Amino acid sequence: MSKLCVVGTGYVGLVTGACFADLGNKVICLDIDEERINKVKQGIMPIYEPGLEQLVAQNIRSGRLSFSSDYQEGLHQADFAFIAVGTPSGVDGEADLQYVRQVAEQIADLVDHPIIVVNKSTVPVGTGDWVADIIKKRRNGRPLDFHVVSNPEFLREGSAINDFMTPDRVVLGSVHRESAALAAQLYAPLRCPVLITDLRTAEMIKYASNAFLATRISFINEIANICDELGADVTEVARGMGLDKRIGLSFLDAGLGWGGSCFPKDVKALAHMAVLHGTQPQLLQAVMDINRNQRRRAVVKLRKALGGLNDKTIGILGLSFKPNTDDIREAPALEIIHLLMNEGANIQAYDPQAMPGVAKIMPAIKLCSDPYQVAEKADALVLATEWNEFKQLDFERIREIMNGLVVLDGRNLWDPDTLRRMGFTYFGVGRGTMINGNNDADGK
Ligand code: NAD
Repeated sequence: MSKLCVVGTGYVGLVTGACFADLGNKVICLDIDEERINKVKQGIMPIYEPGLEQLVAQNIRSGRLSFSSDYQEGLHQADFAFIAVGTPSGVDGEADLQYVRQVAEQIADLVDHPIIVVNKSTVPVGTGDWVADIIKKRRNGRPLDFHVVSNPEFLREGSAINDFMTPDRVVLGSVHRESAALAAQLYAPLRCPVLITDLRTAEMIKYASNAFLATRISFINEIANICDELGADVTEVARGMGLDKRIGLSFLDAGLGWGGSCFPKDVKALAHMAVLHGTQPQLLQAVMDINRNQRRRAVVKLRKALGGLNDKTIGILGLSFKPNTDDIREAPALEIIHLLMNEGANIQAYDPQAMPGVAKIMPAIKLCSDPYQVAEKADALVLATEWNEFKQLDFERIREIMNGLVVLDGRNLWDPDTLRRMGFTYFGVGRGTMINGNNDADGK
């Protein structure tokens, strides 16, 4: 039984800790946020992730999973220290490594036994070496038997446990292959492909993967915008493309663009790394521009359909950046709400999980108890996040209670013909609804 300390008890750390405990390891999850740790100890999850509460409870009961906000306790006799702290965007788009540095310093100060430091946070290429340097310098000559392994995380919020337990691959990078091989043993029960590389390559695999997925979404969104103007349906275009095995169907859903805690900051950080090293990341720049524009196009569609936005009531369905999570970081819905409010619109919204977080940062929004309250007296209804419960709404009822009949289906979830037959003015994304005869989303 290996002893693991997982530092950072957020989306990645908590899922990682609970899953490794479930695989038979002794795990202690650590966080500087004492309130968070106290709540998890009582079974109150700091995040919404399907299945997590049960998995945590089960493994606490088994005695394999515990929590602490005390580094001394967490790192005591740990064979592995997993770093799973946040790496948000800094001012210029670079990854902010202050939290990773704090962890490295704590390890240097508190550990005196052999340890493998496994980095799960998404960090710029070269950070593994930087972490090793911090630890060495801080030891100031006091020897410590340690090695750094990069183990980028690919889990998706909303299906994180399943993604952890059945990964497509596990990537482990280190200058010390033996340490990478020891870390690989932790994943052996999962029987998945394990790729062992050098440190920098592993770090790059994570950025390249996220940038590629973001590129696919921006690509199909650009195609969607062209479809809008030319009268084609992007949902069928994507299917027609995706059935080609060389292309594949995933990440070809046109919509309001990508958001969340990873793609925006990771694409930005990769572009920043490129510029820093004298390369022009032209494609990445375009991928980000298209994404930004996608939100604005939604606002243009609404403005045109309503003949202006001032004093209009817009109902928003879905606030989290995607379904099955309460994460609102860089959520398209919130950006669209900002744009609409800047033009004088009143917003009423509903989300199955994300409303407590939104209430804290956007007090001017009226939060509703269900989709029908959102539709009540609204001039337009916008679907921003495709939660399951929005798939089968009673549109007869919605037609009766809305003030106007404009529907912007930002995730192409509903059937345009049905809604149009019912009298709604339906807009999807790339479903042949010409908005202005040109593609200028900035134009008013
Ligand atoms: P998060 O914000 O949910 O959690 C980070 C946690 O780290 C917080 O609870 C915070 O209190 C804690 N923390 C910060 N500084 C600390 C310190 N010095 N010591 C102990 N704890 C500290 O972040 P997240 O979404 O879990 O992301 C973590 C990393 O994993 C990021 O680099 C992210 O890019 C990467 N990642 C995230 C996902 C995802 O879906 N969320 C997927 C893959 C990779």
